[in-house]
Amino acid sequence: MSGFVFSEKPISIERGEGVTLYDTNGNEYLDFGASYACTPVGHCHPTVVEATTDQVERLLYVQASYPNAPRTALYEQLAEVAPGDIDNTWLCNSGTEANEAALKFSRHATGRSKIIATMQGFHGRTMGSLAATWKDEYKEGFGPLAGGVEFVPYGDSEAMREAIDDETAAVIVEPLQGEGGINPAPTEYLQAVREATTEAGAAMILDEIQTGLGRTGSLWAAEAHDIVPDVLTTAKGLGSGLPIGATLVRDWIAEDCGNHGSTFSGGPVVSAAAGATLDVIVDEDIPSHAAEVGAYLTDELDDVLGDEVRDVRGNGLMVGVEVKRGANPILRDLAIDHGILALPAGRSVVRLLPPLTIEREHADAVVSALEDIIT
Ligand code: PLP
Repeated sequence: MSGFVFSEKPISIERGEGVTLYDTNGNEYLDFGASYACTPVGHCHPTVVEATTDQVERLLYVQASYPNAPRTALYEQLAEVAPGDIDNTWLCNSGTEANEAALKFSRHATGRSKIIATMQGFHGRTMGSLAATWKDEYKEGFGPLAGGVEFVPYGDSEAMREAIDDETAAVIVEPLQGEGGINPAPTEYLQAVREATTEAGAAMILDEIQTGLGRTGSLWAAEAHDIVPDVLTTAKGLGSGLPIGATLVRDWIAEDCGNHGSTFSGGPVVSAAAGATLDVIVDEDIPSHAAEVGAYLTDELDDVLGDEVRDVRGNGLMVGVEVKRGANPILRDLAIDHGILALPAGRSVVRLLPPLTIEREHADAVVSALEDIIT
């Protein structure tokens, strides 16, 4: 019997420390995908390891209907750092579940069913989140998915205003599309979505599963765009690699969110890991560091790669390099010849999502490797 679904790459990783991964043959790699953006403070950060180990020895799990101390602390921490008056937290195990809950809560609180999502958007692989995901490739053969989803072009305020009506339960949108190709949204667009949803009594769900936790240079992209959504979802790096997601909601949604639940909602171990991760991000002002090194990385890529690439774009340490030939051969050369692991975003974009703790020297290493491969 073997695993299926994921095709495996021919590198077997056995250890990680900070921005570096080590394989079973003793080779080192710079993790410039942060393992799907799941290690914002680096691999095995000592603060996270200590908090998690301590909790593992104390209590692995208790049924979710009893409070546990790390979860109670995490609720408070999240309410403190969430944008504006988003004070209520639902904890789950992944990004797609966080969005699934966001869609369910919004439908229940509004009593409406229509969901508006964006072209090229990605929100996860379960039936509801998948229905709000754009690419047909992810959906083929799995239908019927959850119904009532309408797609509008990303970044088009007018199309969004026209689509939102008094049947609309929610708009779900990424502030910077990740899987869709690293497409940043202008502030005016996100503010227009905020305004139109408020006017229609619909919920604005901001999917910050990839952009949040400092990645784009502020703790939440919402802050940089000066908006407070009704629902904000986060996951990926929240537990530094342990599976946890969160759906953060304003009071009007929390007060009428319906019947929802999950066995593992905010288990003590993942909650301890998330609490420690958030502590490091906030105490060490990791978002400002990401903004500074990210701007340096983007400038260097622009200078060095010049006409050889179509575009360099993104915010903070969520950077896309759109190449004239396919991204996959470049990613293979980066891994095999330069010991750098990065990610694709669609066919033609090399996606750079390193741990937010990288220094300029790591950015230099990637720029010089890409220069070597591309030019
Ligand atoms: N939303 C966004 C913006 C994502 O980038 C992802 C994962 O890539 C998801 C949702 C789904 O998260 P998960 O894979 O944890 O279910």
